[in-house]
Amino acid sequence: MATDRSAALSEHYVLGDFLVDETFPDMAKALAPSEEVQANLRRLAGILEQVEAHFPGGWAVRSGFRDQALNEACRELGLPASADSLHLLGCAADVAPRGEQDVEAVFHWLSEHGHGGLDLQEAVVYPNKGFIHLAVPHPSYDRPRRFIMRV
Ligand SMILES: [Zn+2]
Repeated sequence: MATDRSAALSEHYVLGDFLVDETFPDMAKALAPSEEVQANLRRLAGILEQVEAHFPGGWAVRSGFRDQALNEACRELGLPASADSLHLLGCAADVAPRGEQDVEAVFHWLSEHGHGGLDLQEAVVYPNKGFIHLAVPHPSYDRPRRFIMRV
């Protein structure tokens, strides 16, 4: 069955918003996420809605769901992509503000709320690159939550 990229995941986001990769746009066009991956992306979109509610102006996904081929391509290029990345499960996305939001301020807010109100597994901010890696938990990913700044 063809992937319906226009399917709504949340108020502001559709499935296609998370089936993108700025480094490998053509590979991202071929992505066909399973139902389970789509359910994970829906949880992730819910987090992004909460970020948007506090830091409005719109958020763009630079890299969302990755299949094995796309994740390997990122790794071969030396990008910070781990072999068991949460991107592979549709649980992670690298997001950047469309407007003037300061990613460090957003990261501090996430760090404050990520152990309570926000169900986050990871928030890794790259201030110099202007994006944040956001990930929701997954039962198969049994690791401590982490909130890290990478400069
Ligand atoms: Zn990431």
